Amino acid sequence: MDRPFRPDTIFVEQAVESYPLTGSVLERCPGVPVVMVHDAAALVKQFQDDPPAGFNGKRNLLLCRNRGRFLEACPGTGRAYRCCQYLILNTGLGCPLACTYCVLQAYLNNPFLTLFVNRDDMLRELERSARLAPGRFLRIGTGEYMDSLALEHLTGFVPAIAGFFRQRPHLRLELKTKTALTASLQEHDYSDVFIVSWSLNAEAICSGEEPGAAALPERIMAARDLIDRGYRVGFHFDPLIAFDGWQEGYRATVELLKKHIPPERVAWISIGSLRFMPRLKHIAQTACASTAIYTGEFVTGLDGKMRYLQEIRLELYARLVGWLREYGPDIYLYFCMESPYVWERIMGAAPSSNWELKRILDCSISGCPRETCAENGHG
Ligand code: SF4
Repeated sequence: MDRPFRPDTIFVEQAVESYPLTGSVLERCPGVPVVMVHDAAALVKQFQDDPPAGFNGKRNLLLCRNRGRFLEACPGTGRAYRCCQYLILNTGLGCPLACTYCVLQAYLNNPFLTLFVNRDDMLRELERSARLAPGRFLRIGTGEYMDSLALEHLTGFVPAIAGFFRQRPHLRLELKTKTALTASLQEHDYSDVFIVSWSLNAEAICSGEEPGAAALPERIMAARDLIDRGYRVGFHFDPLIAFDGWQEGYRATVELLKKHIPPERVAWISIGSLRFMPRLKHIAQTACASTAIYTGEFVTGLDGKMRYLQEIRLELYARLVGWLREYGPDIYLYFCMESPYVWERIMGAAPSSNWELKRILDCSISGCPRETCAENGHG
């Protein structure tokens, strides 16, 4: 994002008016009109059914309680594809960025950018989940339903939650972003608490299909800056897109990594190719007429999502994995939502189970030797 996000209007559910996070968001948005609403669910329904002319949900922030669960398992399809058993922490819904491939366009029926301000309930739930799995390493991420750092300047999430995680070293939080908004991670050393990871792509995709995101070199330099401050980082090449010139494009991104990022500071790199629920195509093309990413040849996967033909995926993966192995032979590379067959063809072997994949990733950040990781509660 060129500039940190500032909403046009903030809607506040009356029941959360006195919550500390509500107060701090309002304080950080001086001059932004505030509308009090009795019931957030009724407001969402009203705007879904009959949005006012020109209403842009991405520009309007709703502060309310999360009445459901904060923590959920990643919706990876366990049986057909390998899934790393990641847990998703829901701090809100919706994202101010506007990637043309974003699944949220088809997934969310709430048109507002929504922040859950009952943070104490979130911490209580995290605590309960940690107690239910005593000693077990839990990798948790916030980047599933919004970019992890795009609203950090409003929420102060990083400093607010760091102490909780620091006291529970078997919980590790991944902040996944396409921004360069790392100020709160620079102010203090939270390198023992957070893994910060960037979604990367070829320059043409970053500039053409990820409106609102930081330019590719900015993301890489933001990662480098945190590395210089002691952090380990991760990268996600996801979604890979088979556009004209993808070979040169992805190779150039790996060259940028080579130039600026010492591979020994990279905890992992994940790789996945474009996949989407069939209804997303129409929604995305309506929202952004210039997008060309839905014009390839797709098949329906075992999870009901459209994906490239296997031979196209194999070619994308083989080339990228080859370049990444030249860059950092010891970096753990893994596929997001791919079959054991694809793993074997490209990586030479597949994790024997989802738990095996989880164990390897847990060890990548805990630093324990893989032979002893079962004793340490990984996997
Ligand atoms: S950053 Fe992630 S959540 Fe935000 S629009 Fe892009 S794909 Fe969607």
